[in-house]
Amino acid sequence: MAMRKKIVAGNWKMNKTLEEASMLASEVKGMVEDEVKSDTIVVLCTPSIFLLPVRKILGDSNRIFVGAQNCSEHESGAYTGETSAAMIKSANVPYVILGHSERRQYFGENGPLLTKKVDAALKHDLTPIFCCGEPLDVREKNAHESLVKKQVEESLFHLSDALIRKVVIAYEPVWAIGTGKTATSQQAQDMHAIIRKHLASKFGQGTADLISILYGGSVNAANAKELFASPDVDGGLVGGASLKSREFTEIAKSF
Ligand code: PEP
Repeated sequence: MAMRKKIVAGNWKMNKTLEEASMLASEVKGMVEDEVKSDTIVVLCTPSIFLLPVRKILGDSNRIFVGAQNCSEHESGAYTGETSAAMIKSANVPYVILGHSERRQYFGENGPLLTKKVDAALKHDLTPIFCCGEPLDVREKNAHESLVKKQVEESLFHLSDALIRKVVIAYEPVWAIGTGKTATSQQAQDMHAIIRKHLASKFGQGTADLISILYGGSVNAANAKELFASPDVDGGLVGGASLKSREFTEIAKSF
């Protein structure tokens, strides 16, 4: 099987003051360097105001990186309050989360908009962590497979083979985000395999096998090992548990 990157990304969302964020970043850096296997990539996705100070704390590590939680679809100009992909890149920040369910739900982000954001991120050589996943009512109607395939299709299927290989996908069932309700490892594996098969149908198996697909939804130190043991689960996107250095490090050690 092709070697895929193992990635554990923390999504800090809108949490922490500068002082708290700095402390968390330096604790995680120390623990990751001492304890986490060197082939695991760790990403700290911080509020945009903390990207630079956290990047400074992390230094030029080749295993722990900083990431943004969103970027504008626009190149530059009169878009008050927005942050462009070019700005993120210019701050030496390599990753950006796109299409998180909270952005879809509270900020009206949809497939066509996310297509533009994916293009903006890739244009500036950022690695998008593209989120997809179904709400509870969709799973209850057994329509989760078609919804997730559609989400992936509408925002990623226009990409060239070279560009899709730069994308990381996060499958995050909305009913599992911040709820303490985790998908079973079988549910996660099933959906990851479906996403990979769908990617293969468009880009070929060789390319699909290179794309890391992370699971997100109440990942913690107690359940990460089992989730990450599934063949198509290449790591996690972690919300709540990424706010505690010890807990997050234990997750990053779970491969
Ligand atoms: C997330 O925000 O992407 C997430 C998965 O959150 P939590 O781990 O808190 O469920």
